[in-house]
Amino acid sequence: MPDGTPPRVTRTLTSPRALQAAGLLPAAALPGAEAVAARYSIAVTPAVAALIDPADPADPIARQYIPDAAELLTAPHELDDPTADGPFTPVKGVVHRYPDRALLKPLLACPVYCRFCFRREAVGPDGGLLTEPELEAALDWFAATPAVREAILTGGDPLMLSPRRLAAMLGRLAALPQIEILRIHSRVPVAAPGLVTPALAAALETAKPLYLCVHANHAREFTAEAAGALARLARAGVVLLGQSVLLRGVNDSAEALEALFRAMLRARVKPYYLHQLDPAPGTARFAVPVEEGRALLRALRGRVTGLAWPTYVQERPAGGGKVPLGPEWDAKAG
Ligand SMILES: *Cc1c(COP(=O)(O)O)cnc(C)c1O
Ligand code: SF4
Repeated sequence: MPDGTPPRVTRTLTSPRALQAAGLLPAAALPGAEAVAARYSIAVTPAVAALIDPADPADPIARQYIPDAAELLTAPHELDDPTADGPFTPVKGVVHRYPDRALLKPLLACPVYCRFCFRREAVGPDGGLLTEPELEAALDWFAATPAVREAILTGGDPLMLSPRRLAAMLGRLAALPQIEILRIHSRVPVAAPGLVTPALAAALETAKPLYLCVHANHAREFTAEAAGALARLARAGVVLLGQSVLLRGVNDSAEALEALFRAMLRARVKPYYLHQLDPAPGTARFAVPVEEGRALLRALRGRVTGLAWPTYVQERPAGGGKVPLGPEWDAKAG
């Protein structure tokens, strides 16, 4: 390019060299990023690349997705499997920790790979897709477990599946008499809104209520394209919830959180959870102390509509499950 402007990104970038060629990684950061790439997956979709301001070294979108040499340092408190799913896995691809609901992880691929991901040791483009017999065994487990009323599809990102496979899976689960609701956790509507085709929206039209929990951490992720994808899903009858992670340098101010939750609501998404960061390896640069998180939520109370208010939660270590972190008020105090 004569003016030095990198070409517009038209395909998902999956290597440090591709990021550098797109102007999203400085040359000096290349060796560190290559070392990270040897251990963790990388993916930046065209939609995400278009949101990054390469001139801003502290860009909150870049920070979520561009690899950094700091990921190679594991802090003493960080754990390979922070949610400790292992003991709660009755069959491959299923996690059953709570009596009335269970996770089904049909694949481990995502549209993007977040640098703070709590499943970063497991997610990636190759591997993790359940084989047909494994999926049958997982569906048989749901059929044989009447206490489980809610099937939660996660991964990886279930909206990376073809509409045909997704519709088949949801149809099988919805047909079980004990299943009352279905849920999907996904980053696709914001990270790859083009994947939310009419065929995908149609695949999500199910006989039982379907809740889609959209993962987004910054107001800018709610582009016109993302809002269009979410509106298509809403028209298909999908109930839209939001989940975010409290992240240093991304949304660690009352203003950033207010903008994020307002952007969600404008896109028909009700903020559900704000997660405390799980201590996955190499994620320390994103950590915000719990007391600071509580103070941020206190600052929002009263200032924004109650609809914008998520529950602030933390995953307890060793498979203890999610617990709310407050903040709490004294009812008698002024
Ligand atoms: C987070 C999680 C759920 C869902 O929990 P909710 O509080 O209902 O959103 C279910 N199963 C497992 C194993 C989880 O980690
Ligand atoms: S989309 Fe979710 S599972 Fe995938 S890398 Fe990001 S946080 Fe992890």
